Amino acid sequence: MSVRDRVEEIYEQVLLRNAGEPEFHQAAAEVFESLHVVLERHPRYADSGLIERLCEPERQIIFRVPWTDDNGNVHVNRGFRVQYNSVLGPYKGGLRFHPSVNLGIVKFLGFEQIFKNALTGLPIGGGKGGSDFDPKGRSEAEIMRFCQSFMTELQRHIGEYTDVPAGDIGVGGREIGYLFGQYKRLTNSFESGVLTGKGLNWGGSMVRTEATGYGVAYFTAEMMAAKGESLEGKKVVVSGSGNVAIYAIEKVHQLGGTVVACSDSAGYVVDPKGIDLELLKEIKEVKRARISEYADQVPHATYVEGGSIWDVECEIALPCATQNELDEVAAKKLVACGVQAVAEGANMPTTAQGIKVFRDAGVAFAPGKAANAGGVATSALEMQQNASRDSWSFEYTDERLSKIMRGIHERCITTAAEYGQPGDYVHGANIAGFVKVADAMFAMGVI
Ligand code: NDP
Repeated sequence: MSVRDRVEEIYEQVLLRNAGEPEFHQAAAEVFESLHVVLERHPRYADSGLIERLCEPERQIIFRVPWTDDNGNVHVNRGFRVQYNSVLGPYKGGLRFHPSVNLGIVKFLGFEQIFKNALTGLPIGGGKGGSDFDPKGRSEAEIMRFCQSFMTELQRHIGEYTDVPAGDIGVGGREIGYLFGQYKRLTNSFESGVLTGKGLNWGGSMVRTEATGYGVAYFTAEMMAAKGESLEGKKVVVSGSGNVAIYAIEKVHQLGGTVVACSDSAGYVVDPKGIDLELLKEIKEVKRARISEYADQVPHATYVEGGSIWDVECEIALPCATQNELDEVAAKKLVACGVQAVAEGANMPTTAQGIKVFRDAGVAFAPGKAANAGGVATSALEMQQNASRDSWSFEYTDERLSKIMRGIHERCITTAAEYGQPGDYVHGANIAGFVKVADAMFAMGVI
């Protein structure tokens, strides 16, 4: 059987075994696309069921999360933790609280996380979790009660040497605080290495809040440098206005680019003079309000309800909101207006057809598993600080982050070239991540 047929056969099995999970199929297909070239050169990677094992999570936990709202009504949500692969270290990956969360979404995120974490060069395995709980419109007390109920079950499955969750959509510093508090109470131990994204005065790391967004900007700067260009003077569009988007905007501005638009799930704002970051932080981080308020306060900014932020012309596009937010139509518009680079801040924000449009047009395209790895990398730095009971300065941690992002960029470029796909970040990231995990799996036998 040819390598291509073998890979196809395994992919068909993945579809059958994971029916009704389109996002997971999409994430698997993106990695499988790069496997042909690896297997042609190293057929042993198709031995001992390695790819089949890699696609099957080591453990999938689904649990009931009951909680009471402020009016005394009981709600029941579903909690998930998919412990995907631990050959490189403890499972590591965020928790997402969003009504769209289901097992397929958590599996796609966990699968991506395996390769992303491998790319960082740090000793962390891959996992992901969350709940279909919708934090929007909930009071502080309701959020706290939900987090406490969620952790009451999750605590028996995690630990600093087992599984170390962090934040993701809907889970920021506030939620990590409530989760950590409940873990500490239930286990009667201050095990700081069990969660990352903690507050700075109780075991958190400098730069963790900023890390994913800063990392995306550092990676984009490397992509531009590889083209003999820079971020200086470039017009940039960033989708989303959450944790990743805000700090991507901050670092792009520091590196000389101008972010002219950002969004939330209701619409987008355009500010031709450049997004006012202090105002954006005030609206999103302090007031937890909608992005439309930005245009209410800035006379020269416009708010577009609904619609696509990718209608806004730019030289660099950074999708930082959610999966499949940038489709073929949007990609064609961006190409037509001359976009030079696209780096994914979110996980899988570009559809498969969208990626094809960028690659066919020769646009530099960086997948999330490379471009947004700065968040988890800094989480691993937080774990290092917790283990040594130390805390590093902002400057030192930021320098480590920027070095890690340069390293990931270099790994993508050299691996892509080594496998005959020069300049292709998708192949470079998939192959470099896969080979590292596969070699460790071989070393440990059939587990
Ligand atoms: P936040 O919850 O802080 O922000 C999410 C942003 O995306 C909000 O602006 C939100 O708008 C928007 N959004 C969410 N869902 C949708 C949707 N269905 N349609 C349109 N917009 C949407 O999350 P993060 O910034 O932490 O995460 C953003 C992305 O980055 C996710 O894909 C996440 O997996 C990824 N990521 C995050 C990391 C981290 O460290 N936080 C690390 C690596 C990747 P609204 O408020 O209206 O919902």
